[in-house]
Amino acid sequence: MNEKLLNLTDKQCPVNELMNYAKTHKCADCGKCVFGYEGATQLELTMADITMKRSRATDMEQLKKLCTMMVEQSLCDDGIELGQTALAMLDKYADDFAAHIAKKSCKAGVCKKFVTFHILPDLCIGCGDCVDECEDDAIMGKKKFIHVIDQSECTQCGKCVSACDEEAIVMAGAVKPRGPLKPVPCKR
Ligand code: SF4
Ligand code: SF4
Repeated sequence: MNEKLLNLTDKQCPVNELMNYAKTHKCADCGKCVFGYEGATQLELTMADITMKRSRATDMEQLKKLCTMMVEQSLCDDGIELGQTALAMLDKYADDFAAHIAKKSCKAGVCKKFVTFHILPDLCIGCGDCVDECEDDAIMGKKKFIHVIDQSECTQCGKCVSACDEEAIVMAGAVKPRGPLKPVPCKR
């Protein structure tokens, strides 16, 4: 079993880590047995779906069945190891998987589809530099007004973060900063 994957830091996302592990695992290139090769492929695809907000409520149950079959029916230790590692991760990080699937949230802020960008009202001076940087016209505001990101238009590219000299634009995972819904006059 891969112990490193069972000791992740807060900045690592278990879904993303398992996806990359399955993708680069020996079984993904082998093909000598169905449960090793197909198991690695299905694990990678399912993790990719979860990170892209395309998960289904039944994913956890299906993944556990798949990994159990990998452990029981793979022809060599590699397939067995991958199945065991995945099963241990599904168990240890059950809350993280559930948050991705049910709440569409990534605590570590790694899965780009789950993160959002926000303008901190106390730091924004209403200069408008971020508006020029946003190719999606997702930032609302005018001079001397606290700017606001329209989440329905934002494509999470992150370009506006470096455009703001005041460091007022931040990325958020599960916990979102508070701010006005529409531009309001600056306090500064
Ligand atoms: S978020 Fe930054 S760049 Fe955008 S208006 Fe406010 S201070 Fe200017
Ligand atoms: S993250 Fe990209 S799309 Fe979203 S507001 Fe910033 S620049 Fe615009």
